[in-house]
Amino acid sequence: MPSEFTGKHVTVAGLGVSGVPAAKVLHGLGARVTVVNDGADERARAQAAELESLGVTVRLGDGDTLPEGTELIVTAPGWKPTKPLFTAAGQAGVPVWGDVELAWRLRGLDGRKAAPWLAVTGTNGKTTTVQMLASILKAAGLRTAAVGNIGVSLLDAVTGEEEYDVLAVELSSYQLHWAPSLRAHSAAVLNLAPDHLDWHGSMDAYAADKGRIYEGNRVACVYNADATGKPSTEDLVRAADVEEGCRAIGFTLGTPGPSQLGVVEGLLVDRAFVEDRQKNAQELAEVSDVDPPAPHNIANALAAAGLARAFGVSAAAVRDGLRAFTPDAHRIAHVADVDGVAYVDDSKATNTHATEASLAAYESIVWIAGGLAKGATFDELVAGAAKRLRGAVLIGADRALIREALARHAPEVPVVDLDRTDTGAMLQAVQEARRLARPGDTVLLAPACASMDMFTNYNQRGDAFAQAVRELGA
Ligand code: ADP
Repeated sequence: MPSEFTGKHVTVAGLGVSGVPAAKVLHGLGARVTVVNDGADERARAQAAELESLGVTVRLGDGDTLPEGTELIVTAPGWKPTKPLFTAAGQAGVPVWGDVELAWRLRGLDGRKAAPWLAVTGTNGKTTTVQMLASILKAAGLRTAAVGNIGVSLLDAVTGEEEYDVLAVELSSYQLHWAPSLRAHSAAVLNLAPDHLDWHGSMDAYAADKGRIYEGNRVACVYNADATGKPSTEDLVRAADVEEGCRAIGFTLGTPGPSQLGVVEGLLVDRAFVEDRQKNAQELAEVSDVDPPAPHNIANALAAAGLARAFGVSAAAVRDGLRAFTPDAHRIAHVADVDGVAYVDDSKATNTHATEASLAAYESIVWIAGGLAKGATFDELVAGAAKRLRGAVLIGADRALIREALARHAPEVPVVDLDRTDTGAMLQAVQEARRLARPGDTVLLAPACASMDMFTNYNQRGDAFAQAVRELGA
């Protein structure tokens, strides 16, 4: 069937996770596709060969020259807006879409059902929240999937055979930057902390890109009523141009006001999607239904519940969906108890904001931290957690930064500084942590740093921790 893409000259910027499927879909729709890519390594050459065999033109090693005749660019989300390719596109009046914009435009293609999107962004907690949301929607009997950086890709979800009633969509700030016409049914911004500022240029630009998720929302803009930073997620709701009647819904770990979800005496409670919200509240679930029941994760559950309730899901389905949810590996995963000490793997805490959340979840902690700091500073993090620290074991390339912050803000906390960056250091780190810990404590791997100085990725780091704990137990 002819489409708006038939015969159109489309340049796909960047091979890889989103570029290859985008090129295939566009080619399938009859577009004349050229892929441009900066690198020309072995993987890129293999991907190029595959696409060329289909009839797609691929230019390796030159991602900055705009191919002649380009009418539209579809870019990989990570490409920086300042790249010369986009300057050239701007001068030539060529629109630039990201993979999410393409997926959004392809909804309803060939008479498929165009499922509405419940969208989630935030500095931390996106994946967890979207998975909780999908679990709740499934418990309500809806055909759905968690899409985005996880599971099914967005493009597959909108162009594939399977029909959905609604999608739970994770969106990064990059993806939002390149998705000008996206209009979600309802959306949530979980939290905002400085991240990816080199890409966005400033905190305001980063927040503005995150805030795009609220543009054109139909039913609810879900925001974090406890957030104190500027701009707050509520500020982003205020700045958005939404459909008539769309409501601002807050979530809080405290008692909810009208039009909020919150926590009352160990229960998750809805005071937003109930009749007469001045007087009434609806119990949704128990705090203990949320795994793990750490404060930041309860916030994630409330945000997921808010979006589900905006879609008309029952309170019972919220409870069942939360109970059915299990977190992904390396996100506050309880590994084992050894001699009365709990060992918890939050290897996914690769920045200070995530680590702050996990340190807030335990009373008395032996903290294993360190790795690649990516320009972060640790004073605020350490000062906030000092009272909860029984001790700290530092590993990795930038551990001195954390050691110095500990010396400034928690001088009485014993620190073991492991002067090694080999993979085997984790076993020693866990043994040192055991020596520092007392019964009732938690040994928490929450590195506040990236892992690549010592490990392939955060998964391998978490696995090394769990393995070391098992060796202790044995
Ligand atoms: P994302 O998809 O945004 O990276 P994840 O759900 O994968 O988020 O969690 C990433 C890290 O952030 C984990 O270490 C987790 O413990 C922490 N985290 C999860 N939710 C929150 C939150 N609401 N606030 C702060 N940190 C969080």
